Amino acid sequence: MCYSSQASNGEEPSSPFREWLRIRMRSVGKCVVFVMIFGSLQVVPCSDRVHLVLSTDLLSKFFDRVRWENYQRKYRGKILSPTSPEGVRVGKILGKILEGMYDGLGLQHDYHASIYSPEKIDCDHFSMAVQSDDGQKKISPQRRDGRFGIRYGTKHVEGMNWEVMLVDSDFHNAEYLSDGKIVFYTGVLTLAGSEESRRMIKHADSFDAFIDAVIATSLSHEVGHGLAHHKAELFMRGLWLHVLLVSPFLRHVGMLPIGLLLALIYSFLSRRDELEADHIGMMLMAAAGYNPRYAPMVRWWHSLYGSDENAFSTHPSCERRAKILAQDEMVKQAMDVYKKVKAGQRFSFFN
Ligand SMILES: [Zn+2]
Repeated sequence: MCYSSQASNGEEPSSPFREWLRIRMRSVGKCVVFVMIFGSLQVVPCSDRVHLVLSTDLLSKFFDRVRWENYQRKYRGKILSPTSPEGVRVGKILGKILEGMYDGLGLQHDYHASIYSPEKIDCDHFSMAVQSDDGQKKISPQRRDGRFGIRYGTKHVEGMNWEVMLVDSDFHNAEYLSDGKIVFYTGVLTLAGSEESRRMIKHADSFDAFIDAVIATSLSHEVGHGLAHHKAELFMRGLWLHVLLVSPFLRHVGMLPIGLLLALIYSFLSRRDELEADHIGMMLMAAAGYNPRYAPMVRWWHSLYGSDENAFSTHPSCERRAKILAQDEMVKQAMDVYKKVKAGQRFSFFN
């Protein structure tokens, strides 16, 4: 009779499942150690959602720095100057949004904000318009605790260098890159200023106010991505999905089903991030002194130019975004801040 060497040593032969589980547990163990060293559990201001992010956000900063430099090359000759009419208008609105945000977070105004210029130009007067810090608003940083005693994630925006690249393009969109960098395409302004828009928008106080609201809605949404630390969360999400889904099942299930499942998960979570940035953006608009009721109106207006949603969409449809922003609870939360700002009273994004 023949016995295996393991059996003769008195050991149970290891089943393929046990071997698989052992390898997985080891991977999860390494991941937990990584998270304990490099991860940070935080609460997102305004939405109060608890999330796990990479505390040393070097990866997303590195990749987005490369993208930012690529955009500089790609849009050479199409980047509008900070002193152009659009640059001055967007710069002023950015300044108001950031001032309101740092006030609402109880943080010092030690940030810097500018409209990116490919040429070195002397624009001291412009810097003053963007950066409202006049040295009078020095507030001690308040690191506040949120749900379950977990700290609000605000440290990453302290001392941040916010920069907007204004691109002359038909594209009506904006994009947040890590580390305070925003790419803003002027197509949305052209669209908002069109005769067709003038006919559609009848509720705005004035058409000028509507165009400002379009810029404020779009910019505050992108700043909202920055405040919610979505990029750092995305990298942490990628790590967990790899450890829990890709690595264990890729060999057994194949690339296509795993790829589809990953696309579905990423798209679903991306849509949730977009809605969260909308919510934060509406609060930032209010803090900047813009009527937050404009936010759902602008999304509704944008939906008229077409925006579909399916399971693989990274963004919800503008129609759904408008409906969610128009919910009573969300409007009330933003209007409370807006009324305090208009009355010159102190306000806070924390409960
Ligand atoms: Zn977004």
